[in-house]
Amino acid sequence: MKLSTIKSTIAVAGGNLYRCSHPSTSTGSEMLFSIFKPSLPDPLESPPALFYLSGLTCTDSNFIEKASSAFQTAQDLGVSLIVCGTSSQKRVEGDDESWDFGHNAGFYVDATNPKWKEAGYNMYTYVLDELPSLISSDFNCGVHARSIFGHSMGGHGALQIALKNPEVFCAVSAFAPICNPVEGAWGKKAFEGYLSSVDAGKEYDATELVKKNGRTFDDILIDVGTSDQFLTDGQLLPNNFKLAAEMSQQKVTLRMQPGYDHSYHFINTFVSDHVHFHSKRLKAEQRSKILQATEEIDVSMTGKPIKCKAMVARGPKIPLTEETITVDPPRAGEVRVKVMANALCHTDIYTLDGLDPEGLFPCILGHEAGCIVESVGEGVLSVKPGDRVIPGYTPQCAKPSCIFCMSPKTNLCPAIRSTQGAGKMPDGTTRLRDEKGEEIFHFMGCSTMAEYAVLAEISCAKIDDSAPLDKVCLFGCGVATGLGAVWNTCKVQKGETVAVFGLGAVGLSVIQGAKMAGASRIIAVDINPSKFEAATKAGATDCVDSLNGIPEGKNVQQHIAGGLTQWGVDYSFDCTGIVSVMRAALECSHRGWGTSCVIGVAASGHEISTRPFQLVTGRSWKGTAFGGFKTRTDVPKLVNKYLEGELPIEQYITHTFEGVEKTNEAIDALHSGDCLRAVVKYF
Ligand SMILES: [Zn+2]
Ligand SMILES: [Zn+2]
Repeated sequence: MKLSTIKSTIAVAGGNLYRCSHPSTSTGSEMLFSIFKPSLPDPLESPPALFYLSGLTCTDSNFIEKASSAFQTAQDLGVSLIVCGTSSQKRVEGDDESWDFGHNAGFYVDATNPKWKEAGYNMYTYVLDELPSLISSDFNCGVHARSIFGHSMGGHGALQIALKNPEVFCAVSAFAPICNPVEGAWGKKAFEGYLSSVDAGKEYDATELVKKNGRTFDDILIDVGTSDQFLTDGQLLPNNFKLAAEMSQQKVTLRMQPGYDHSYHFINTFVSDHVHFHSKRLKAEQRSKILQATEEIDVSMTGKPIKCKAMVARGPKIPLTEETITVDPPRAGEVRVKVMANALCHTDIYTLDGLDPEGLFPCILGHEAGCIVESVGEGVLSVKPGDRVIPGYTPQCAKPSCIFCMSPKTNLCPAIRSTQGAGKMPDGTTRLRDEKGEEIFHFMGCSTMAEYAVLAEISCAKIDDSAPLDKVCLFGCGVATGLGAVWNTCKVQKGETVAVFGLGAVGLSVIQGAKMAGASRIIAVDINPSKFEAATKAGATDCVDSLNGIPEGKNVQQHIAGGLTQWGVDYSFDCTGIVSVMRAALECSHRGWGTSCVIGVAASGHEISTRPFQLVTGRSWKGTAFGGFKTRTDVPKLVNKYLEGELPIEQYITHTFEGVEKTNEAIDALHSGDCLRAVVKYF
């Protein structure tokens, strides 16, 4: 049940701004607040929450109207922003018309003086407890991570509340805060009134708190304008705080901003810096909370068979069956993993549809996953229980004797090729059994459509402990393949031109990779124009409808090589697996030097063709498997790039499901036209 009422909703900066009210239990009156919720690729995800406390006489509407540049930054960084309308709506006898004391003032304390206590002056409890839990329950914001900032009295409120409650608010910053109120006229008056003595105000005084508590945060950001009248008349006292913090080893970044005063113009100028400051810390907090929530490795099963849920492919063209299987413990050189999330890939479906003549049944499909190591077999040193790994269907033995692993030209390590192709572990046996004890084949060395899997150690890419597995699982196949085709196989350079055929997840990741490489022109080709919006968003400069958008008398390659460009594109990529499209891709590449890269997997028995003249006149044909990435050395780097915000991948996740048993539904979703990647979270 929702506790708050939404009074208005406005679309802002790509997200939504809600103005709300709710009956507050801690203040005994109707309170107003505004919340900006960014739109996220996964609408069920809880964005971290950044709370803003207004200063004296200000309400949430001041911030919304005058510091609106915050919302675009909050949308870009995926942070929700809650502006507390902390001036209570009711007036009480004794309210001071000078506004620095009274029920509408902005000192965030719980009153002890009976007069104010009875009037419900509990702004501290309201901000600390009531509002954050309301925001979590009503808006699904800040479930994992919260931080706080504010202005003037609100800046002081943010500082003292965070310093006292670092387990609730993981970061704090402020604009022109009243840093040491027991030493200033406003603070003395307020504490005397609400708490009956100035001395009692010390427990709400940021400077006193930092003296007492020592180092609490990695850094505290404070901006103060040098022309702020309250700085010059001794209300703010930022240097008192800075000095006390230094003595306590608490880092404070105090920025004195020349010429700025106490106004919202000052806040609006620097608010983006503050949102960035908080976002970095909120994301780290969110990742560590999620890590704690999911990392439930039961070490008691080490060395024993584990029974778990799995979706078994019993035969071609038959829906997967939900079964309880037994996953045996890992043998020498093997790793047993708990599969946390698995994304569907067309190669799984291709095998399930019986199109792969070498497909083995019964088997457990799945090869694009995020996992946590449960136990390791003898001799395994590169990963340990609790580590996060992405399974790789292209292993990397990394032995000096392996000419493939030693060569920078390829990622095709043949170390376990024959057993992997035969659906077995490297020693020629399987670790998977059904309820009757019959063997189940492994698939692509992964088999991640089960809650547990056994992998060869040389197939495990160990990744950062904070990586969200339900996102970075995409680096296990399709998205990595597209990026690698551009960066490794073709090595596209700045200013070069590119054409991409087929705009599924792989094609879009080719576009993303080409844009990141600085391609000057990216031509996106598909028979379905509904894919063009996503392609353009990813960086395509031209979109070609190859079914209905080609001029009379031409084919698509002639349209690209002799219409859109003069001689063709420097690089072309086939992401369809259709051999006639592979031909078109080759033939639209540049006379003299054009290169075409085959990424899509063609149906069994199909062959490619072109006139040899196409190659004689300087075009070359290439192919790539897993984008040329070496699983164990390169996948962790992709994950780091993602974690640093340089390589967003959320846009590929169009569908999510919970529980391995939902895999058939995810397959249906993948068959529908609008799906790029469907991720099934298991735990
Ligand atoms: Zn795949
Ligand atoms: Zn090797």
